[in-house]
Amino acid sequence: MTDSLRLHSTVALVTGASSGIGEATALALAAEGATVALVARRGERLQALAGRIGERALAIAADLTDPAEPPRVIEEVVAGAGRLDILVNNAGVMLLGPIEGAPLEEWERMIDLNVRALVHCAHAALPHLLAAAAQGPRNVSDMVNISSVAGRTARSGGGMYNLTKWGVGAFSESLRQEVTARHVRVGLIEPGATESELVEQNRPEIVASLALGGFERMQSADIADAILYMVTRPRHVAVNEMLIRPTEQER
Ligand code: NDP
Repeated sequence: MTDSLRLHSTVALVTGASSGIGEATALALAAEGATVALVARRGERLQALAGRIGERALAIAADLTDPAEPPRVIEEVVAGAGRLDILVNNAGVMLLGPIEGAPLEEWERMIDLNVRALVHCAHAALPHLLAAAAQGPRNVSDMVNISSVAGRTARSGGGMYNLTKWGVGAFSESLRQEVTARHVRVGLIEPGATESELVEQNRPEIVASLALGGFERMQSADIADAILYMVTRPRHVAVNEMLIRPTEQER
């Protein structure tokens, strides 16, 4: 590793790093020199990813919907790596289907992870992001929250997912205004259809009802690329929001 890498001497934490966008983001940040803490429930996946990254990876298995876990995880990262410069709040679940007759357990899962876990991670990380922004090497820090096209465009059959992602956008903008003058950049990423394990979490009848074959989807690395762009801007540039669709996705 050389000092010329753009995230040299920084520490990043990626939630939902065991698959999809989170895994690709962890690899992208590590390739730019960051020490990366990998967080999700499937510890064996995190260990395998840590093995690919090398000594600058820290695997922490945690269910972030347990309110005790976000502060524990953040403290473990700061204790182990000394600081926190970048939080990527990526862990999320998308359970689709009509509101009418929806299994309430699915709604609870989305609220618990997409909203509650995200805001608890943000809350626990904030003092450390403020501290990192006040220090070198970059004198700026980043929180990147992963929303969705579904955070801007409501669709029939996605009501509760829309609600959670809309909430991520509102929370992010409010927090951005609170901390941006202190050089904590809060950025929002809104991906469109991206290949990952996300759809597989749905009931089989819902998966069967989704028209997935219609167009070329993005890869997780495409979104990781956008996140990397966001966190590698010069200190005086904050990319607040990125809406990224596959070219053929109309809405
Ligand atoms: P994946 O299903 O591949 O990844 C979801 C990640 O969240 C996994 O690493 C999973 O790990 C983790 N996770 C799930 N539950 C928990 C939990 N309780 N505690 C900690 N981690 C958890 O999907 P994507 O990569 O596609 O999704 C990443 C984000 O991108 C989500 O917020 C999603 O809403 C968003 N997004 C995705 C789009 C797409 O088309 N793929 C489009 C728009 C937004 P584990 O199971 O090991 O806990």
